[in-house]
Amino acid sequence: MCSAPNDVVAPAAIERCAACGHDQLYFQKDFNRRTGIALVVLGSIFVPWTYGLSLLGVTILDYAVWRIVKNVVVCYRCQTVHRGYAVPEWIKQFDLVTHDRHVYGQAPPGAEE
Ligand SMILES: [Zn+2]
Repeated sequence: MCSAPNDVVAPAAIERCAACGHDQLYFQKDFNRRTGIALVVLGSIFVPWTYGLSLLGVTILDYAVWRIVKNVVVCYRCQTVHRGYAVPEWIKQFDLVTHDRHVYGQAPPGAEE
């Protein structure tokens, strides 16, 4: 019988894209930018009635959400978002140059979306 201690309990760290197998990934906050902008707009609308306090409120809320949300790993090539993984050290934040190299390296501008 195997009596060695089993350390393989933690979720596996991501090594490559689960969707396309690409190994260039970046991490970002799992945060919907649109939600943040909507909050600020909402706060701005109520400024005349709250003497600017609504704007302060949404700014704090926005920051709080930013702190709470976890990082997600995203594939440069297929944009697949990987949730629930621990972000390893070799994965860096989004890099525009790397992104452009992927986007314009394989598809002409405007070919997507
Ligand atoms: Zn991918």
